Amino acid sequence: MLKLQRADLFREAAYVGGEWSTGNGHTWVPVHNPATGAQLGRVPSLTRANVEEAIASANAAFAQYRQWTGKARGAVLLKWASLMLEHKNDLAQIMTAEQGKPLREAQGEIDYAVSFLEWFGEEAKRVYGDTIPAPRGNQRITVIRQPVGVCAAITPWNFPSGMVTRKVAPALAAGCTVVLKPAPQTPFSALALCVLAEEAGLPKGALSVVTGDAVEIGAALIESETVRKLSFTGSTAVGKKLMAACAGTVKKVSLELGGNAPFIVFDDANLDQAVQGAIASKFRNAGQTCVCANRFLVQAGIHDAFVERLTQAVREMRMGHGTEDGVTLGPLIDDAALRKVERLVADARSKGASVHAGGERHPAGPSFYAPTVLTDVTDTMSITQEEIFGPVVAVTRFTDEAEALTLANATRYGLAAYFYTSDLNRSIRVTEALDFGIVGVNEGAISTEVAPFGGVKESGFGKEGSRYGIDEYSERKYVCLGNVA
Ligand code: ADP
Repeated sequence: MLKLQRADLFREAAYVGGEWSTGNGHTWVPVHNPATGAQLGRVPSLTRANVEEAIASANAAFAQYRQWTGKARGAVLLKWASLMLEHKNDLAQIMTAEQGKPLREAQGEIDYAVSFLEWFGEEAKRVYGDTIPAPRGNQRITVIRQPVGVCAAITPWNFPSGMVTRKVAPALAAGCTVVLKPAPQTPFSALALCVLAEEAGLPKGALSVVTGDAVEIGAALIESETVRKLSFTGSTAVGKKLMAACAGTVKKVSLELGGNAPFIVFDDANLDQAVQGAIASKFRNAGQTCVCANRFLVQAGIHDAFVERLTQAVREMRMGHGTEDGVTLGPLIDDAALRKVERLVADARSKGASVHAGGERHPAGPSFYAPTVLTDVTDTMSITQEEIFGPVVAVTRFTDEAEALTLANATRYGLAAYFYTSDLNRSIRVTEALDFGIVGVNEGAISTEVAPFGGVKESGFGKEGSRYGIDEYSERKYVCLGNVA
């Protein structure tokens, strides 16, 4: 059982229009602890009518909330941020229990989640418009920024708090209201945030968290004419379906979808930094992030040294339950995730990949996969085509820069890319040639609230974080004042 200082942060209820709801009271969805497989709790399976109630209350709240000054909206977000920090330990415990990541990583994610509340709490005051010199002397042209309206947010399980505030904070800062559907594996983090949002003074209806069947809830949100915007983070397959469905009401859409990040190590790289960056980028959250390095492309001259050092570092990692001291690597989210990793590794081995570490399940629990290093990986193997979402390093050897770039860009995804070099000219050339929305140069940890996060190609569109993040939740209205005497 969870030992929380504030037991009321753990809610087995949805949050609809500022009220805790158990839906029809009969239908529930169980939530499991991925480290043990034991049931952690349950959340109600809301009906379509419950979701429509959440949308209606978001719409009612919007009428008032949009009138608030940016400063007043920001003050609520900043208060919410300080409450999250105050209860960081409880929030991290809830996250580790439902998601599996080591407690230290969960605490780091709470800081990350808070950073969006702080950033957009400040940005709420800076939703600036423009004045434009008019073509006629008796006209005045201005552009004002206004909130989009009621927004739907659909979030994944890999960052149960971070993905919530990354969407909700800019929406609320802009003056929108939100109905959020968290991933079924990790609803409790989102619900705990609602407890604190309410305490911070967020008005009823400004944020609802709806739980239950993804397809039914998704349809209710997307078919609604009241909902004017969808922000989705998840798989490319689901993102495509939702984007198509949003055409029905011509919603504004932002999509943060899958990735297939290349991590290129050139001969002239600093080996220590490259190994450190590889660990940071690959093993965060046991490899379950959309910016995790998926394909390691390593130049022939540094290949063996890099593989040896990385293998050594991987062997030193401690896998176990996230609540145990010193654990650096937790379980995969569920059995399906484990089976996917097993399938990818088996396919790579059958086509000639060599295993330097791992390559099998780990005895710590039912969904643990040992950290793994594979070499001799080629682009005919599924592991280079699909998002691994597990702790597996797949290394391909290359000879020159042109070959590395061709391999790196040979994917329908375009979220993050990384490369290591000490050549200034190469760093500029390669940065510009990579078809990705985010590039880490001699850096493996790129996520921060101050920079625009988002992909190109089938990794989606729209930016989260940074001064651009709020654009996704505001419209520019052009005002032409005529006949000025
Ligand atoms: P993942 O592989 O990370 O679970 P998904 O795209 O399946 O990726 O899930 C991301 C989010 O999208 C989750 O909240 C999930 O419940 C939700 N989701 C999945 N299918 C649908 C759907 N048809 N309509 C709406 N939401 C969906």
